[in-house]
Amino acid sequence: MSDTIAAIATPIGEGGVTIIRFSGTDSLSIALKLFYTPSGKSIKKLYPNKAHFGSIYEPTTRKCVDEVVLTWFKNPKSYTGEDVVEISAHGGTFVSSRILGLVLDHGARLAEPGEFTRRAFMNGRIDLSQAEAVADLISAASDKALQAAIMQLKGLLSQKITRLYDRLLFVLGQVEATIDFPEEGLDFQKREASISELKQVREEISDLISTYKQGKISREGASVALLGKPNVGKSSLLNALLQEDRAIVTPHPGTTRDTLEEKVRIKDTHINIIDSAGLRKYPEIIEQEGIRRTRSAIENADLTLVIFDRSKPLDENDDLICKEVHDKSTLIIINKCDLREQWPVENLKEKIKTDTLVFVSAKEQSGLDSLIDAIYNCVINTEKSGEAVFISRERHRLNLVQASSSLEKTLVSLENQLSEEFVAIDLSIAMNHLATILGKVVEDELLDQIFNSFCIGK
Ligand code: GDP
Repeated sequence: MSDTIAAIATPIGEGGVTIIRFSGTDSLSIALKLFYTPSGKSIKKLYPNKAHFGSIYEPTTRKCVDEVVLTWFKNPKSYTGEDVVEISAHGGTFVSSRILGLVLDHGARLAEPGEFTRRAFMNGRIDLSQAEAVADLISAASDKALQAAIMQLKGLLSQKITRLYDRLLFVLGQVEATIDFPEEGLDFQKREASISELKQVREEISDLISTYKQGKISREGASVALLGKPNVGKSSLLNALLQEDRAIVTPHPGTTRDTLEEKVRIKDTHINIIDSAGLRKYPEIIEQEGIRRTRSAIENADLTLVIFDRSKPLDENDDLICKEVHDKSTLIIINKCDLREQWPVENLKEKIKTDTLVFVSAKEQSGLDSLIDAIYNCVINTEKSGEAVFISRERHRLNLVQASSSLEKTLVSLENQLSEEFVAIDLSIAMNHLATILGKVVEDELLDQIFNSFCIGK
Protein backbone atom coordinates (compact mmCIF):
# COMPACT_ATOMS: atom_id res chain seq x y z
CA MET A 1 0.00 0.00 0.00
CA SER A 2 1.40 3.38 -0.95
CA ASP A 3 -0.25 6.78 -0.95
CA THR A 4 -0.82 8.27 -4.35
CA ILE A 5 1.49 11.03 -5.53
CA ALA A 6 0.79 13.39 -8.41
CA ALA A 7 2.61 16.08 -10.36
CA ILE A 8 2.77 17.84 -13.68
CA ALA A 9 5.58 15.89 -15.34
CA THR A 10 6.30 18.35 -18.16
CA PRO A 11 7.89 21.80 -17.79
CA ILE A 12 5.48 24.51 -16.66
CA GLY A 13 4.48 26.88 -19.46
CA GLU A 14 2.52 26.82 -22.68
CA GLY A 15 3.20 24.05 -25.16
CA GLY A 16 1.64 21.40 -27.35
CA VAL A 17 1.01 18.83 -24.63
CA THR A 18 1.36 18.65 -20.88
CA ILE A 19 1.44 15.43 -18.86
CA ILE A 20 -0.12 15.03 -15.44
CA ARG A 21 1.24 11.90 -13.83
CA PHE A 22 0.09 10.06 -10.71
CA SER A 23 1.30 6.90 -9.05
CA GLY A 24 0.09 4.79 -6.12
CA THR A 25 -2.70 2.56 -4.87
CA ASP A 26 -5.56 4.95 -5.76
CA SER A 27 -4.34 5.96 -9.22
CA LEU A 28 -6.79 3.82 -11.15
CA SER A 29 -9.84 4.75 -9.02
CA ILE A 30 -8.97 8.47 -9.27
CA ALA A 31 -8.66 8.13 -13.06
CA LEU A 32 -12.06 6.44 -13.27
CA LYS A 33 -13.67 9.29 -11.27
CA LEU A 34 -12.34 12.01 -13.60
CA PHE A 35 -12.09 10.43 -17.03
CA TYR A 36 -15.15 10.20 -19.31
CA THR A 37 -15.82 9.36 -22.94
CA PRO A 38 -15.49 12.30 -25.37
CA SER A 39 -19.28 12.72 -25.19
CA GLY A 40 -19.27 12.79 -21.39
CA LYS A 41 -20.38 9.24 -20.52
CA SER A 42 -18.71 7.59 -17.52
CA ILE A 43 -16.18 4.82 -18.09
CA LYS A 44 -16.26 1.55 -16.11
CA LYS A 45 -13.02 0.01 -17.26
CA LEU A 46 -9.59 1.06 -18.47
CA TYR A 47 -7.14 -1.20 -20.27
CA PRO A 48 -3.50 -1.26 -19.20
CA ASN A 49 -0.81 0.15 -21.50
CA LYS A 50 -3.39 1.46 -23.92
CA ALA A 51 -3.96 5.08 -24.85
CA HIS A 52 -7.60 6.09 -24.23
CA PHE A 53 -9.04 9.19 -25.85
CA GLY A 54 -11.67 11.00 -23.74
CA SER A 55 -12.38 14.00 -21.55
CA ILE A 56 -11.62 15.10 -18.01
CA TYR A 57 -14.76 16.25 -16.25
CA GLU A 58 -15.17 17.99 -12.94
CA PRO A 59 -17.35 15.26 -11.31
CA THR A 60 -19.58 17.47 -9.15
CA THR A 61 -20.37 20.22 -11.68
CA ARG A 62 -20.07 17.86 -14.69
CA LYS A 63 -18.09 20.57 -16.47
CA CYS A 64 -15.60 19.43 -19.11
CA VAL A 65 -12.06 20.60 -18.32
CA ASP A 66 -10.14 19.27 -21.33
CA GLU A 67 -10.01 16.59 -24.02
CA VAL A 68 -7.13 14.30 -23.18
CA VAL A 69 -5.36 11.01 -23.84
CA LEU A 70 -5.08 8.81 -20.74
CA THR A 71 -2.78 5.85 -20.24
CA TRP A 72 -2.80 3.48 -17.31
CA PHE A 73 0.39 1.52 -16.61
CA LYS A 74 -0.65 -1.39 -14.41
CA ASN A 75 1.64 -2.36 -11.55
CA PRO A 76 4.25 -3.77 -11.46
CA LYS A 77 5.05 -2.96 -15.09
CA SER A 78 5.25 0.79 -14.75
CA TYR A 79 7.96 3.40 -14.14
CA THR A 80 7.45 3.30 -10.37
CA GLY A 81 6.33 -0.34 -10.10
CA GLU A 82 2.91 0.94 -8.87
CA ASP A 83 -0.26 1.78 -10.79
CA VAL A 84 0.68 4.86 -12.80
CA VAL A 85 -1.72 7.03 -14.78
CA GLU A 86 -0.57 9.64 -17.26
CA ILE A 87 -2.96 12.20 -18.65
CA SER A 88 -1.75 14.03 -21.75
CA ALA A 89 -3.66 17.29 -21.80
CA HIS A 90 -3.48 20.44 -23.91
CA GLY A 91 -0.36 22.31 -22.91
CA GLY A 92 -1.65 25.28 -20.99
CA THR A 93 -0.59 26.25 -17.49
CA PHE A 94 -4.14 26.80 -16.29
CA VAL A 95 -5.65 23.64 -17.74
CA SER A 96 -2.86 21.41 -16.43
CA SER A 97 -3.14 22.94 -12.95
CA ARG A 98 -6.91 22.38 -13.01
CA ILE A 99 -6.46 18.69 -13.85
CA LEU A 100 -3.71 18.29 -11.23
CA GLY A 101 -6.02 20.03 -8.71
CA LEU A 102 -8.78 17.51 -9.46
CA VAL A 103 -6.38 14.58 -9.00
CA LEU A 104 -5.27 16.05 -5.65
CA ASP A 105 -8.92 16.66 -4.58
CA HIS A 106 -9.62 12.99 -5.19
CA GLY A 107 -7.03 11.59 -2.84
CA ALA A 108 -3.56 12.11 -4.28
CA ARG A 109 -0.92 14.34 -2.74
CA LEU A 110 1.67 16.49 -4.51
CA ALA A 111 4.87 14.56 -5.27
CA GLU A 112 8.24 15.65 -3.88
CA PRO A 113 11.10 16.26 -6.36
CA GLY A 114 12.33 12.89 -7.68
CA GLU A 115 9.66 10.95 -5.78
CA PHE A 116 8.49 8.90 -8.79
CA THR A 117 12.07 7.75 -9.41
CA ARG A 118 12.59 7.18 -5.68
CA ARG A 119 9.59 4.85 -5.73
CA ALA A 120 11.00 3.08 -8.80
CA PHE A 121 14.14 2.50 -6.73
CA MET A 122 12.30 1.49 -3.54
CA ASN A 123 10.14 -0.95 -5.53
CA GLY A 124 13.19 -2.56 -7.12
CA ARG A 125 12.45 -1.37 -10.69
CA ILE A 126 15.90 0.22 -10.89
CA ASP A 127 18.91 0.33 -8.61
CA LEU A 128 20.48 3.49 -7.24
CA SER A 129 23.05 3.90 -10.00
CA GLN A 130 20.26 3.67 -12.58
CA ALA A 131 18.23 6.25 -10.66
CA GLU A 132 21.23 8.57 -10.78
CA ALA A 133 21.44 7.89 -14.52
CA VAL A 134 17.86 9.18 -14.93
CA ALA A 135 18.97 12.52 -13.42
CA ASP A 136 22.07 12.52 -15.63
CA LEU A 137 20.00 11.80 -18.73
CA ILE A 138 17.72 14.75 -17.98
CA SER A 139 20.62 17.13 -17.42
CA ALA A 140 22.77 15.78 -20.31
CA ALA A 141 23.95 18.69 -22.46
CA SER A 142 26.22 16.84 -24.89
CA ASP A 143 26.36 13.58 -26.82
CA LYS A 144 28.99 12.24 -24.50
CA ALA A 145 26.92 13.01 -21.39
CA LEU A 146 23.94 11.33 -23.02
CA GLN A 147 25.89 8.19 -23.88
CA ALA A 148 27.26 7.99 -20.35
CA ALA A 149 23.77 8.28 -18.86
CA ILE A 150 22.29 5.68 -21.23
CA MET A 151 25.08 3.21 -20.47
CA GLN A 152 24.33 3.54 -16.78
CA LEU A 153 20.55 3.56 -17.19
CA LYS A 154 20.65 0.35 -19.18
CA GLY A 155 22.32 -1.20 -16.15
CA LEU A 156 25.78 -1.88 -17.62
CA LEU A 157 27.52 -0.41 -14.60
CA SER A 158 25.12 -2.20 -12.22
CA GLN A 159 25.79 -5.53 -13.95
CA LYS A 160 29.53 -5.04 -13.71
CA ILE A 161 29.34 -4.13 -10.00
CA THR A 162 26.98 -7.06 -9.33
CA ARG A 163 29.39 -9.50 -10.99
CA LEU A 164 32.26 -8.23 -8.85
CA TYR A 165 30.06 -8.44 -5.75
CA ASP A 166 29.04 -12.04 -6.53
CA ARG A 167 32.67 -13.06 -6.96
CA LEU A 168 33.49 -11.63 -3.54
CA LEU A 169 30.41 -13.35 -2.11
CA PHE A 170 31.71 -16.69 -3.34
CA VAL A 171 35.06 -16.15 -1.61
CA LEU A 172 33.28 -14.98 1.55
CA GLY A 173 31.19 -18.18 1.48
CA GLN A 174 34.35 -20.27 1.52
CA VAL A 175 35.89 -18.22 4.33
CA GLU A 176 32.74 -18.37 6.42
CA ALA A 177 32.44 -22.12 5.95
CA THR A 178 35.81 -22.50 7.62
CA ILE A 179 34.67 -20.27 10.49
CA ASP A 180 31.63 -22.54 10.97
CA PHE A 181 33.65 -25.74 10.56
CA PRO A 182 37.09 -24.78 11.92
CA GLU A 183 38.37 -28.36 11.83
CA GLU A 184 38.31 -28.15 8.03
CA GLY A 185 40.38 -24.89 7.94
CA LEU A 186 41.00 -22.83 4.82
CA ASP A 187 43.44 -25.24 3.23
CA PHE A 188 46.43 -24.05 1.22
CA GLN A 189 44.74 -24.56 -2.14
CA LYS A 190 41.57 -22.68 -1.21
CA ARG A 191 43.62 -19.86 0.32
CA GLU A 192 45.70 -19.53 -2.85
CA ALA A 193 42.59 -19.61 -5.05
CA SER A 194 40.92 -16.95 -2.89
CA ILE A 195 44.01 -14.74 -3.04
CA SER A 196 44.15 -15.00 -6.82
CA GLU A 197 40.43 -14.30 -7.21
CA LEU A 198 40.56 -11.28 -4.89
CA LYS A 199 43.55 -9.89 -6.75
CA GLN A 200 41.67 -10.14 -10.03
CA VAL A 201 38.62 -8.41 -8.57
CA ARG A 202 40.83 -5.68 -7.13
CA GLU A 203 42.42 -5.24 -10.57
CA GLU A 204 39.01 -4.83 -12.20
CA ILE A 205 37.98 -2.34 -9.54
CA SER A 206 41.09 -0.27 -10.15
CA ASP A 207 40.42 -0.37 -13.92
CA LEU A 208 36.96 0.97 -13.20
CA ILE A 209 38.36 3.70 -10.92
CA SER A 210 40.73 4.75 -13.71
CA THR A 211 37.74 5.46 -16.00
CA TYR A 212 36.50 8.16 -13.59
CA LYS A 213 38.32 11.11 -15.11
CA GLN A 214 36.96 10.42 -18.59
CA GLY A 215 33.53 9.53 -17.21
CA LYS A 216 33.34 12.76 -15.23
CA ILE A 217 34.41 14.74 -18.29
CA SER A 218 31.66 13.03 -20.30
CA ARG A 219 29.05 13.91 -17.68
CA GLU A 220 30.11 17.36 -16.48
CA GLY A 221 32.61 18.54 -19.07
CA ALA A 222 36.32 19.12 -18.55
CA SER A 223 37.68 21.87 -16.41
CA VAL A 224 40.54 23.82 -17.92
CA ALA A 225 42.45 26.50 -15.99
CA LEU A 226 44.18 29.43 -17.72
CA LEU A 227 47.44 30.31 -16.02
CA GLY A 228 50.02 32.96 -16.78
CA LYS A 229 51.55 36.00 -15.18
CA PRO A 230 49.48 39.19 -15.41
CA ASN A 231 49.25 40.70 -18.87
CA VAL A 232 50.26 37.63 -20.91
CA GLY A 233 46.81 37.68 -22.50
CA LYS A 234 44.72 35.19 -20.49
CA SER A 235 41.52 37.22 -20.72
CA SER A 236 42.12 38.01 -24.38
CA LEU A 237 42.58 34.34 -25.10
CA LEU A 238 39.45 33.43 -23.18
CA ASN A 239 37.54 36.03 -25.15
CA ALA A 240 38.96 34.72 -28.39
CA LEU A 241 37.78 31.23 -27.44
CA LEU A 242 34.38 32.50 -26.47
CA GLN A 243 34.24 34.84 -29.43
CA GLU A 244 32.82 37.48 -27.18
CA ASP A 245 33.99 40.08 -24.69
CA ARG A 246 33.14 38.86 -21.22
CA ALA A 247 36.46 39.13 -19.40
CA ILE A 248 37.71 42.68 -18.95
CA VAL A 249 40.86 43.16 -21.01
CA THR A 250 43.19 45.81 -19.67
CA PRO A 251 46.83 46.75 -20.26
CA HIS A 252 47.53 47.00 -16.47
CA PRO A 253 48.92 43.89 -14.78
CA GLY A 254 46.82 42.24 -12.08
CA THR A 255 43.37 43.46 -13.05
CA THR A 256 41.69 40.07 -13.40
CA ARG A 257 41.44 39.73 -9.62
CA ASP A 258 38.88 37.01 -9.34
CA THR A 259 38.51 33.73 -11.18
CA LEU A 260 36.05 33.77 -14.05
CA GLU A 261 34.47 30.62 -15.41
CA GLU A 262 33.07 30.23 -18.91
CA LYS A 263 31.72 27.27 -20.81
CA VAL A 264 32.70 26.48 -24.38
CA ARG A 265 31.84 23.40 -26.36
CA ILE A 266 34.72 21.79 -28.21
CA LYS A 267 33.48 19.11 -30.60
CA ASP A 268 31.28 16.85 -28.43
CA THR A 269 32.60 17.97 -25.05
CA HIS A 270 31.84 20.81 -22.69
CA ILE A 271 34.86 22.67 -21.44
CA ASN A 272 34.67 24.92 -18.39
CA ILE A 273 37.47 27.43 -18.76
CA ILE A 274 38.61 29.15 -15.61
CA ASP A 275 40.48 32.41 -16.10
CA SER A 276 42.49 33.11 -13.02
CA ALA A 277 43.99 36.09 -11.26
CA GLY A 278 47.40 34.84 -12.23
CA LEU A 279 50.35 34.41 -9.91
CA ARG A 280 52.92 37.08 -9.12
CA LYS A 281 55.90 36.93 -6.89
CA TYR A 282 55.01 40.08 -4.93
CA PRO A 283 51.24 40.36 -5.11
CA GLU A 284 49.37 43.22 -3.50
CA ILE A 285 47.24 42.08 -0.56
CA ILE A 286 44.07 42.50 -2.63
CA GLU A 287 45.33 39.89 -5.08
CA GLN A 288 46.09 37.27 -2.44
CA GLU A 289 42.58 35.81 -2.43
CA GLY A 290 42.62 35.63 -6.24
CA ILE A 291 45.92 33.80 -6.08
CA ARG A 292 44.54 31.31 -3.56
CA ARG A 293 41.68 30.65 -5.95
CA THR A 294 44.07 30.31 -8.86
CA ARG A 295 45.96 27.60 -7.01
CA SER A 296 42.76 25.76 -6.18
CA ALA A 297 41.62 26.06 -9.85
CA ILE A 298 44.89 24.48 -11.02
CA GLU A 299 44.57 21.77 -8.39
CA ASN A 300 41.06 20.82 -9.55
CA ALA A 301 41.56 21.30 -13.29
CA ASP A 302 41.73 18.42 -15.76
CA LEU A 303 44.15 20.53 -17.79
CA THR A 304 46.04 23.79 -17.21
CA LEU A 305 46.82 26.06 -20.14
CA VAL A 306 50.07 27.81 -19.24
CA ILE A 307 50.47 31.02 -21.20
CA PHE A 308 53.70 32.89 -21.96
CA ASP A 309 54.14 36.26 -23.63
CA ARG A 310 56.48 36.00 -26.62
CA SER A 311 57.02 39.74 -26.76
CA LYS A 312 58.47 40.21 -23.26
CA PRO A 313 61.48 38.47 -21.70
CA LEU A 314 60.73 35.58 -19.36
CA ASP A 315 61.04 36.66 -15.73
CA GLU A 316 60.75 35.31 -12.19
CA ASN A 317 56.94 35.33 -12.38
CA ASP A 318 57.12 32.90 -15.32
CA ASP A 319 59.47 30.74 -13.23
CA LEU A 320 57.01 30.80 -10.36
CA ILE A 321 54.25 29.57 -12.66
CA CYS A 322 56.42 26.79 -14.07
CA LYS A 323 57.08 25.56 -10.52
CA GLU A 324 53.40 25.72 -9.67
CA VAL A 325 52.38 23.29 -12.42
CA HIS A 326 55.41 21.00 -12.53
CA ASP A 327 53.44 17.76 -11.93
CA LYS A 328 50.17 18.82 -13.54
CA SER A 329 48.67 18.08 -16.92
CA THR A 330 49.57 21.14 -18.98
CA LEU A 331 49.41 22.61 -22.44
CA ILE A 332 51.89 25.41 -23.16
CA ILE A 333 50.65 28.40 -25.10
CA ILE A 334 52.98 31.00 -26.56
CA ASN A 335 50.90 34.14 -27.03
CA LYS A 336 51.44 37.46 -28.81
CA CYS A 337 53.07 35.75 -31.79
CA ASP A 338 52.07 38.79 -33.86
CA LEU A 339 54.79 40.80 -32.04
CA ARG A 340 58.57 40.49 -32.33
CA GLU A 341 59.87 37.51 -30.35
CA GLN A 342 62.01 38.45 -27.34
CA TRP A 343 63.21 34.98 -26.32
CA PRO A 344 63.79 31.62 -28.00
CA VAL A 345 61.28 28.90 -27.15
CA GLU A 346 64.17 26.58 -26.18
CA ASN A 347 64.53 28.69 -23.00
CA LEU A 348 61.36 27.11 -21.70
CA LYS A 349 62.70 23.58 -21.94
CA GLU A 350 64.58 23.58 -18.66
CA LYS A 351 61.65 25.18 -16.83
CA ILE A 352 58.61 23.13 -17.86
CA LYS A 353 57.54 20.04 -19.87
CA THR A 354 57.15 21.32 -23.43
CA ASP A 355 55.69 18.24 -25.19
CA THR A 356 52.72 20.26 -26.40
CA LEU A 357 53.36 23.82 -27.50
CA VAL A 358 50.84 25.96 -29.31
CA PHE A 359 51.66 29.33 -30.88
CA VAL A 360 48.83 31.86 -30.97
CA SER A 361 47.96 35.49 -31.15
CA ALA A 362 44.86 36.17 -29.09
CA LYS A 363 44.75 39.67 -30.54
CA GLU A 364 44.77 38.56 -34.18
CA GLN A 365 42.91 35.34 -33.40
CA SER A 366 45.53 33.20 -35.10
CA GLY A 367 46.46 29.65 -34.08
CA LEU A 368 43.08 29.15 -32.41
CA ASP A 369 42.14 26.04 -34.42
CA SER A 370 45.36 24.30 -33.38
CA LEU A 371 44.73 25.39 -29.82
CA ILE A 372 41.20 23.96 -29.84
CA ASP A 373 42.47 20.64 -31.28
CA ALA A 374 45.24 20.49 -28.71
CA ILE A 375 42.85 21.16 -25.78
CA TYR A 376 40.50 18.44 -27.04
CA ASN A 377 43.28 15.90 -27.46
CA CYS A 378 44.60 16.63 -23.99
CA VAL A 379 41.29 16.29 -22.15
CA ILE A 380 39.81 13.43 -24.15
CA ASN A 381 41.93 10.38 -23.74
CA THR A 382 40.72 8.47 -26.78
CA GLU A 383 42.17 5.12 -25.66
CA LYS A 384 40.14 5.13 -22.44
CA SER A 385 37.01 6.79 -23.79
CA GLY A 386 36.27 3.62 -25.78
CA GLU A 387 35.57 1.66 -22.54
CA ALA A 388 32.05 0.20 -22.52
CA VAL A 389 31.55 0.64 -18.79
CA PHE A 390 32.84 3.61 -16.86
CA ILE A 391 32.03 5.63 -13.77
CA SER A 392 31.24 9.30 -13.79
CA ARG A 393 30.13 10.10 -10.23
CA GLU A 394 32.33 10.87 -7.27
CA ARG A 395 30.06 8.72 -5.05
CA HIS A 396 30.86 5.66 -7.18
CA ARG A 397 34.57 6.43 -7.28
CA LEU A 398 34.75 6.84 -3.49
CA ASN A 399 32.99 3.54 -2.84
CA LEU A 400 35.25 1.74 -5.32
CA VAL A 401 38.35 3.22 -3.70
CA GLN A 402 37.11 2.12 -0.27
CA ALA A 403 36.22 -1.35 -1.59
CA SER A 404 39.69 -1.64 -3.06
CA SER A 405 41.38 -0.65 0.20
CA SER A 406 39.30 -3.20 2.17
CA LEU A 407 40.28 -5.85 -0.38
CA GLU A 408 43.88 -4.88 0.17
CA LYS A 409 43.48 -5.55 3.91
CA THR A 410 41.74 -8.86 3.14
CA LEU A 411 44.66 -9.92 0.98
CA VAL A 412 47.19 -9.00 3.66
CA SER A 413 45.25 -11.13 6.19
CA LEU A 414 45.04 -14.06 3.78
CA GLU A 415 48.69 -13.85 2.80
CA ASN A 416 49.77 -13.67 6.44
CA GLN A 417 47.61 -16.63 7.41
CA LEU A 418 45.59 -14.50 9.82
CA SER A 419 42.37 -15.88 11.25
CA GLU A 420 39.37 -16.27 8.95
CA GLU A 421 37.36 -13.83 11.09
CA PHE A 422 39.66 -10.96 10.06
CA VAL A 423 39.43 -11.97 6.44
CA ALA A 424 35.65 -12.14 6.58
CA ILE A 425 35.27 -8.72 8.22
CA ASP A 426 37.33 -6.82 5.62
CA LEU A 427 35.80 -8.76 2.76
CA SER A 428 32.31 -7.88 3.99
CA ILE A 429 33.28 -4.21 4.21
CA ALA A 430 34.52 -4.32 0.59
CA MET A 431 31.25 -5.93 -0.48
CA ASN A 432 29.26 -3.32 1.43
CA HIS A 433 30.93 -0.55 -0.56
CA LEU A 434 30.00 -2.23 -3.84
CA ALA A 435 26.44 -2.74 -2.58
CA THR A 436 26.24 0.96 -1.66
CA ILE A 437 26.81 1.92 -5.29
CA LEU A 438 23.73 -0.08 -6.22
CA GLY A 439 21.80 1.24 -3.23
CA LYS A 440 21.46 -2.16 -1.52
CA VAL A 441 22.73 -0.70 1.74
CA VAL A 442 22.06 2.96 1.90
CA GLU A 443 21.07 5.64 4.39
CA ASP A 444 17.92 7.73 3.95
CA GLU A 445 20.05 10.85 4.06
CA LEU A 446 21.93 9.77 0.93
CA LEU A 447 18.66 8.99 -0.84
CA ASP A 448 17.33 12.45 0.08
CA GLN A 449 20.48 14.02 -1.30
CA ILE A 450 20.25 12.10 -4.59
CA PHE A 451 16.52 12.43 -5.24
CA ASN A 452 16.20 16.06 -4.13
CA SER A 453 18.30 17.03 -7.15
CA PHE A 454 15.51 15.77 -9.46
CA CYS A 455 12.69 17.88 -10.80
CA ILE A 456 9.13 17.45 -9.58
CA GLY A 457 7.25 14.90 -11.69
CA LYS A 458 10.27 12.65 -12.28
P1 GDP B 1 45.81 38.98 -18.71
O1 GDP B 1 46.21 39.90 -17.62
O2 GDP B 1 46.72 37.81 -18.80
O3 GDP B 1 44.37 38.53 -18.65
O4 GDP B 1 46.01 39.78 -20.07
P2 GDP B 1 44.96 40.54 -21.00
O5 GDP B 1 44.17 39.60 -21.81
O6 GDP B 1 44.22 41.53 -20.15
O7 GDP B 1 45.92 41.29 -22.02
C1 GDP B 1 46.88 42.23 -21.58
C2 GDP B 1 47.27 43.15 -22.76
O8 GDP B 1 47.90 42.37 -23.78
C3 GDP B 1 46.09 43.82 -23.44
O9 GDP B 1 46.45 45.13 -23.78
C4 GDP B 1 45.81 42.98 -24.66
O10 GDP B 1 45.22 43.70 -25.72
C5 GDP B 1 47.23 42.55 -25.02
N1 GDP B 1 47.26 41.28 -25.76
C6 GDP B 1 46.69 40.10 -25.41
N2 GDP B 1 46.95 39.16 -26.33
C7 GDP B 1 47.70 39.75 -27.30
C8 GDP B 1 48.27 39.30 -28.53
O11 GDP B 1 48.15 38.13 -28.95
N3 GDP B 1 49.00 40.19 -29.24
C9 GDP B 1 49.16 41.49 -28.85
N4 GDP B 1 49.85 42.27 -29.59
N5 GDP B 1 48.62 41.94 -27.71
C10 GDP B 1 47.89 41.10 -26.93
